[in-house]
Amino acid sequence: MKVKIERDTIAIILLICIVLICVVTLLGFKSHGEVEDLVRQQFNEQQLMLARQAALGIEGFADERVTIIEILARDRSGDSISDITGCFKTIYEETSGFYSIEFIDANGVVVYGYPEHSAPVGYDLYAENMSGTFDSARDKKETNISSPTPLFEGGLGSFIWVPVYEEEEFRGVILAIIRTTTITDRFLEPIMQDRTGYVYMIDNKGKSLYDGTRREAIGKNYIKMLSEDNDAWLKILNEQMNGSEGTAVYFDEGSRSEQIVAYAPVRWRDQLWSVAISVPASEVDDLIRSVYVKQMTFLGIVIAIILGGSLGLIVMYSRWNKTLEAEVKLKTGDLIQSNKELALANERLKELDKLKSDFVSMVSHELKTPLAAMRTSAQVLEVTDINTETKGEMLDIILRNIDRQTNLVNDLLDLSRIESGRMELKFEKLSLDSIIADSVESVRPAAMDKGLTLDVELPDGLASVKADREKLTPVIINLLNNAIKFTPSGGGEIIIKVRELNGQVEVRVSDTGIGIPPEDLDRVFDKFYQVDSTLTREAGGTGLGLAICKGIIDAHNGKIWAESELGKGSTFSLTLEKWSG
Ligand code: ADP
Repeated sequence: MKVKIERDTIAIILLICIVLICVVTLLGFKSHGEVEDLVRQQFNEQQLMLARQAALGIEGFADERVTIIEILARDRSGDSISDITGCFKTIYEETSGFYSIEFIDANGVVVYGYPEHSAPVGYDLYAENMSGTFDSARDKKETNISSPTPLFEGGLGSFIWVPVYEEEEFRGVILAIIRTTTITDRFLEPIMQDRTGYVYMIDNKGKSLYDGTRREAIGKNYIKMLSEDNDAWLKILNEQMNGSEGTAVYFDEGSRSEQIVAYAPVRWRDQLWSVAISVPASEVDDLIRSVYVKQMTFLGIVIAIILGGSLGLIVMYSRWNKTLEAEVKLKTGDLIQSNKELALANERLKELDKLKSDFVSMVSHELKTPLAAMRTSAQVLEVTDINTETKGEMLDIILRNIDRQTNLVNDLLDLSRIESGRMELKFEKLSLDSIIADSVESVRPAAMDKGLTLDVELPDGLASVKADREKLTPVIINLLNNAIKFTPSGGGEIIIKVRELNGQVEVRVSDTGIGIPPEDLDRVFDKFYQVDSTLTREAGGTGLGLAICKGIIDAHNGKIWAESELGKGSTFSLTLEKWSG
């Protein structure tokens, strides 16, 4: 039952642990999807931001250059041509980015240019039939910027035609050329440093102005280069040509990989270009993977914590259970012990009850026997014609039984006093010599009757003891009487020896009588206890003598005990405290 409860509890803990792990894992996988979307979104936004930054940089740079030329054309419109062109050098050197700055007079002839080596001075636009944009700038009276066109020296360049008017008088056109590479080197080239992927820029016709990986494509039209089935990229290019911004995915034929492209428009006066940053889609996957690894690690840690916690709980529970078990065991042990004690006490009570019954029947018997003897003797005495001798015998019987009853009643009274603690002792300084001499003398006739020798061994100068004479004398007599009683007639020897031992005085009464069986040795001091033997039965007695002796010696703070060998004799010893003053 206990084991089952323990197993159930552990199973519940494990179940909770498994449920928790499932929930955490589920949440982990669910959030993983969300995190993936978030990472993709953020990555796209970051790419778009880069494209926007580059586009803004180009816009600012190019526009600033146009403005400088426009300010020159406006502020110096009244100056002489040479004064105007005199500023070109300063502008060229102070403002980086110009490929050349030229002045074309009102007749369409290049009159000056800086740097001089790249200026086709004397070049006549009308003669060369190249006056279209010149005429347009003059007629509209406003700056005209050409779409990047190939330069003689190679590469592309933007031609900025700024008309110079003094009031209504047309004085010519300042033509500033900015090489596209100047712009792209500055704003697009650095983007892809230390990164995979590439940057490209197109104009609103789809012409490539820059391509980080395919230099050969520069100046060519992407739309024409495009293989027909790359719809995704075609769509992106169209969006770019429309001036939109955004991000999209397409398959790049060149690198044979999926690319994420972020594009943003460059609006420079009436020019519309579009910058695109294209990176392999695997870059996001790597990012997602790293987030995934972190998430998994976190998940692992959480699961480990849950497992550890559950394990800890189980261990704690088992320990607690064991402590409880041990406690229950202890208490059960205590209970068993007290049950045993109770049973023992019960046993003793029963024994006491039996003793009481025995006592009553014994006392009744002991009282009745002399009474019966006395009654019989009295009845005999009632008869008038009995002789004097018989009369004497009958009276003798009556007197002996009166004595016997008196002794019994006295013994009972003594015992009752001892047991109730009412026995009063009058301690005095006693010399054992006289007590022993008196006692021996009182039992000597009985010993002689049975033909037993009675010896006393008393050392000289024996110390006095602290005792009550009246109580101690019957004890000695009782021991001597027992020795005589339980030694068969003829040839036996009884010795009473006294000695000092360990600061006490010891009295030993030895006989060569029937002895006491070992199992009865301790019990002879119990009241009414008599060893079951023929001699005991013959000797009579009540079994109270030794009980009274023990009570008296105990009250003297002494000890009394018996040693015996069956058939060889017994020795009863007692100790008494020395008189200490
Ligand atoms: P009782 O009146 O029967 O003598 P006691 O209390 O004096 O009562 O003795 C109890 C029992 O102890 C005796 O009945 C006897 O069996 C045994 N006993 C006492 N003294 C001796 C002894 N010296 N030798 C053998 N048995 C003895």
